[in-house]
Amino acid sequence: MEGRIIGVNGPVIKAEHMRGFKMREMVMVGSKKLIGEIIILEEDNATIQVYEETSGLKIGEVVISTGSPLSLKLGPGILGNIFDGIERPLEKINEMSHGFLPEGIGLISLDEEKLWGVDVNVKIGDELEEGYIYASIQETESIKHKLMVPPGVSGTVTWANENGEYNIETTVVKLTQGEKEYELKLYQTWPCRRPRPVKDKKTIFKPLITGQRIIDIFFPLAKGGTCAIPGGFGTGKTITQHQLAKWSDADIIVYIGCGERGNEMTEVLEDFPKLIDPRTNLPLMNRTVLIANTSNMPVAAREASIYTGITIAEYFRDMGYHVAIMADSTSRWAEALREISGRLEEMPAEEGYPAYLPSRIAEFYERAGYVENLNGSEGSVTVIGAVSPAGGDFSEPVTQNTKRFVSVFLGLDKKLAYARHYPAINWLNSYSGYLTLLKDWYEENVAEGIMDLRAKMLKLLYEESKLLEIVKLVGEDVLPDSQRLIIEVSKCLKIAFLQQNAYNDVDTYAPLDKQYKMLKVIESFYDYGSNAVKAQIPISIIINKELMEKLYKMKYNVPNDKLSIIDELDKELENYFKELIVKYKKGR
Ligand code: ADP
Ligand code: MG
Repeated sequence: MEGRIIGVNGPVIKAEHMRGFKMREMVMVGSKKLIGEIIILEEDNATIQVYEETSGLKIGEVVISTGSPLSLKLGPGILGNIFDGIERPLEKINEMSHGFLPEGIGLISLDEEKLWGVDVNVKIGDELEEGYIYASIQETESIKHKLMVPPGVSGTVTWANENGEYNIETTVVKLTQGEKEYELKLYQTWPCRRPRPVKDKKTIFKPLITGQRIIDIFFPLAKGGTCAIPGGFGTGKTITQHQLAKWSDADIIVYIGCGERGNEMTEVLEDFPKLIDPRTNLPLMNRTVLIANTSNMPVAAREASIYTGITIAEYFRDMGYHVAIMADSTSRWAEALREISGRLEEMPAEEGYPAYLPSRIAEFYERAGYVENLNGSEGSVTVIGAVSPAGGDFSEPVTQNTKRFVSVFLGLDKKLAYARHYPAINWLNSYSGYLTLLKDWYEENVAEGIMDLRAKMLKLLYEESKLLEIVKLVGEDVLPDSQRLIIEVSKCLKIAFLQQNAYNDVDTYAPLDKQYKMLKVIESFYDYGSNAVKAQIPISIIINKELMEKLYKMKYNVPNDKLSIIDELDKELENYFKELIVKYKKGR
């Protein structure tokens, strides 16, 4: 079957003689065999989006069928790798071509020559269901790759290979099911636009611990949950995503650099390979896969990169892992949709985005979840998307539509970023929809009463924001000492707790027990301070400079394994205020 190109419009190609091709089929376009996908098919004519540079294509060149939808190879060799939007390994391509993304390189993905040590799990006669783990491979030092019977396949083992070193094309197991015979290799393929099936979606109950205080305590993420991080230019979206990729307690990280400038991705590519996983002391890349589609790469591949990323995430989830996927930025992805839609001359909706923008965003976030897999194991995919509204204006369509489909919203704030308050997450408009679901976990695993403590502290911050409005108008002096104390405690909360420096070795990651103790000692200061105010001790004495300094600095000065220093500080506060009250009672 061969079609003919009749029109080229950027990444969108029109072709005739396309009868017999299938909708969403992957095709080879032109003499260079560029990879494309049929997105509209009407009798003899098709519209194709092409994932590679199309500038050299000419009218009359051929379009060749591949017979299958745009699919990914899922197998060992994904971890530690860097792919483009359709799973082509960028380093390998670089080596082959000494340049960036040559055209018509074909659909190469996983290394076909590399040998992997395979442990076979089954013997002749075994009955295997879909999802069953028939072999395993130590893919990296920290991650065991499990080879699973693909969804929709089951049968009796008629032949099983021995343990050994094989490349991905080697057959490991043969299955029969009635007339059908299957050869299971070291990989399976999956059409990236289709969610991989699971047995059951479960209720969220575990946090995704990030080591970032404002997130873990105030707006917690959940394993299997969704989160959006919207913010204008320079407010810290990328750094926040990097922090989550580095420190969150997911087993596997899929990081999609989507349409951002090339130099931001370079930073990731240079930075990540040097990082060490604090949990395993092994390189973080052992559990990480990067998907890079910078602004200078073809837009259609950017559109696909989101699906490639989430399919890889689901594949590792199916093995029983907790996977977190970050996309930076989904706005650039939406812009790719808009550009392609414009070329298709579709009727534009809000701000030129296609009318199906909301459903596409929903489909992406709906692939998150804490699940029971086909093989009975539990796993999760957590989806975290950065959104970059122009000028930081959250009323635009991508931010608004994303907000409809995510449960955690971490709103980055220009004013905070400008004041170098990082992470610039605005506690007044951010929220987590998982508080109720995660309460039991936090109470059992961190400390009883932690959620009440959280609520008490957040309330202070809300009150402060109102008080600051008054102060702006009439100055601080008119406020009673009880309210001035609220302003002081809030200042302490902001400096000591909410601000967290990604570039400081100690502060970059705070374990939950440290977070809790830090918040508790700030509460102590508030409680002792309130008593002192009641005892009519002047606020200037309550705000003891030396003690405040100690509170402000504990995030840097208290190593994560010496938390008793915070207990001592709590004791010091207690003594200071005890003595103060005794002194003042005597004085009167
Ligand atoms: P965006 O991706 O939103 O454009 P970036 O993530 O690149 O913004 O952040 C811009 C700058 O803000 C960073 O280069 C860094 O200096 C600062 N920054 C952001 N978050 C933090 C943080 N947690 N700690 C320290 N600096 C930060
Ligand atoms: Mg950025």
